[in-house]
Amino acid sequence: MTQTQATPAQSTRVAIVTGASRGIGASVAQRLAQDGFAVAINYASSAAEANALVDELKAQGLSAIAVKADVAKPDEVRALFETTEAQLGRVDVLVNNAGVLKTTPLADTSDALYDQTFDINVRGTFNTLREAAKRLNDGGRIVNFSSSALAMNLPGYAIYNATKAAVESFTHVFAKELRGRQITVNAVAPGPVATELFTNGKTAEQIANFAKMPPLERLGQPEDIAGVVSFLVGPDAGWVNGQILRANGGLA
Ligand code: NAP
Repeated sequence: MTQTQATPAQSTRVAIVTGASRGIGASVAQRLAQDGFAVAINYASSAAEANALVDELKAQGLSAIAVKADVAKPDEVRALFETTEAQLGRVDVLVNNAGVLKTTPLADTSDALYDQTFDINVRGTFNTLREAAKRLNDGGRIVNFSSSALAMNLPGYAIYNATKAAVESFTHVFAKELRGRQITVNAVAPGPVATELFTNGKTAEQIANFAKMPPLERLGQPEDIAGVVSFLVGPDAGWVNGQILRANGGLA
């Protein structure tokens, strides 16, 4: 467990962003820090990237710490919340961004790939939601990560889509289970976003074809999704609860 010290004011709202060392998570962490949150930047292995982001935010006078935890492991998730509470004082927002994608036909999927995808995307979300139920302040916000891939049913996406279907189910049910706490639970379902997760293993032609699919005719950028998360955890989304927001340029 590595941490970088920060000293937010008592009243500063605190957000945990899982998988925030790069890609969409890093952009969400940056945006929430700019919105005034003290941010816990979680990562599993990319310590250098996570610590560099913390340094960058601190240089802008913003408040952030980096916390190593594999979301698939319940004890590490518990420690993630404990470290955040110890360093930043409280937890108001959880953004369940950490996730993996490896496309392969269902018939060719190894047990190891199945386990890894479900462990990180589903068990990881389950672990953080269960911990959040105990620790999130009343009035808090939770944003899970699904995918617009779910609506497209493309070959190769069976295992990944199944994990995101589970995340959408968690979102709908958990929003109801937190009745009385004034905590909203929503999910964002991005279309293709220009990150390593999306581009890895694809040819330039495949990437260009994906970029042409939405009527807005481009790939999403991490900042497009960070803006949606900022809305969902901000004051204007207080009446949005149990919803899946598909941010994909009109793709599906
Ligand atoms: P990415 O660029 O591959 O980044 C993934 C992040 O998750 C990294 O910071 C990685 O950190 C972290 N991570 C991976 N396994 C982890 C674990 N076990 N515990 C904690 N952190 C872990 O991915 P992305 O494109 O930003 O995707 C973010 C989310 O958006 C995912 O849930 C993905 O399914 C969803 N999404 C993405 C797209 C897209 O087109 N990019 C579309 C729809 C939905 P380490 O390197 O330290 O492991």
